[in-house]
Amino acid sequence: MKKPTIKTVTRPPGRAKNHDEGGNLYRLLIDRVQDYAIFALDEDGYILTWNAGAERLKGYKPGEIIGRHFSVFYPPEDVAADKPAHELELAIATGSAEDDGWRVRKDGTRFWANVLITALRDDTGKLRGFAKVTRDLTERRAALEDALDSARRVAAEEVGRVAAESQARELWELAQRLGDQAAELERRSVEADDANRAKSEFLAAMSHELRTPLNAIGGYAQLMEMGIAGPVSDQQRVHLERIQRSQQHLLGIINDILNFSRIEAGHLAYNIGPVVLQEVLEVGAAMIVPQAGEKRIRVKMAQCPPDLIASADRAKVEQILLNLLSNAVKFTPDDGEIELTFGAQSDHVSLAVRDTGIGIPVKQLELIFAPFMQVGRSLASPKEGAGLGLAISRDLARGMRGELTVESREGSGSTFTLTLPRVPARSPKA
Ligand code: ADP
Repeated sequence: MKKPTIKTVTRPPGRAKNHDEGGNLYRLLIDRVQDYAIFALDEDGYILTWNAGAERLKGYKPGEIIGRHFSVFYPPEDVAADKPAHELELAIATGSAEDDGWRVRKDGTRFWANVLITALRDDTGKLRGFAKVTRDLTERRAALEDALDSARRVAAEEVGRVAAESQARELWELAQRLGDQAAELERRSVEADDANRAKSEFLAAMSHELRTPLNAIGGYAQLMEMGIAGPVSDQQRVHLERIQRSQQHLLGIINDILNFSRIEAGHLAYNIGPVVLQEVLEVGAAMIVPQAGEKRIRVKMAQCPPDLIASADRAKVEQILLNLLSNAVKFTPDDGEIELTFGAQSDHVSLAVRDTGIGIPVKQLELIFAPFMQVGRSLASPKEGAGLGLAISRDLARGMRGELTVESREGSGSTFTLTLPRVPARSPKA
């Protein structure tokens, strides 16, 4: 019985029953293989043979491709890099060259290929050409990339999930901390409010208690001065005047403290109405002229249009103005000058007191509005006043929706400006 042909093909080449039969089968096998492009190149890389697999893979018929150089299968960038030649050189040097990479079909489309080039030598070792086997791995590569893509996606999703979880945890912790801090702030603010209220109430009660005996001191000193309790010598009269001056001074300080503590405690009522600026300026100037005269300080006053009207509590505006003017006299050397001016904008008006006095250092400009602050003087040795006048004045200004500000140059004078909401001028009736 004849043995199946296949056995003949698998026999070791040297042991073929018949050499020709083996050679034919071998060619047949190569020609028919569909899944691999198998072809031969001459020593310079020109195509010598072409099998069915090569036609299927690359799209060329044998007549179109045999005789052409195998670099036609490479993309232009590989040709530019001389890759085909390098692969032949590698095959010559090492026997074979293997490469995975993009190759180009006849129609210009690309496919991902595994290429094995083997150098073919005769018995004497002379190079006769090359065998080239190409496989299309496009699908395998696509599958691999898909798998990689999904792995990356899963990893990214996982990273995102972990990051989101940790972010959520951090946010939660932050919210907790903020909540704690808010609670702590609330607690401290309540404590501070309580302490402030207690302080203001204490100051109010104390000032009130001090005023009664102080008024008595003043009253009795006056009675004595009038000679009601018997004749008074000139020397005694001088002493009685000093007692009265000190009593007045102390009363002023205590009134300031009482005033301030009332504002602080929010017990002050504002009687808001129209206040004609010119009238307040005149009252202020008249009040300060005697004090200023003692130091030969000139008092100038601008004439203000009668329709400039502030919306304010007139008594409090006068109180602020008096404070600013007495400070101006207090801090201006003899023969200086004080000027009262005004200003107007569409929605507010202002009154300013300018002096040619000692001025205020830049660093202290805001501090002087703090309670008990006096430039260049310690709390232990206050001279004239308690350092509350400006604190009270600014609080009063703000209480009327206005503001009190200062501009000053040390050594050349200061300007304090009180700003108040403006009552719009009435348009004349047609
Ligand atoms: P007091 O006048 O009772 O000291 P104030 O609050 O009115 O308190 O003023 C605080 C401080 O601001 C003053 O002690 C003084 O140092 C400074 N000051 C106020 N007005 C003037 C001014 N016109 N020129 C220079 N310094 C001033």
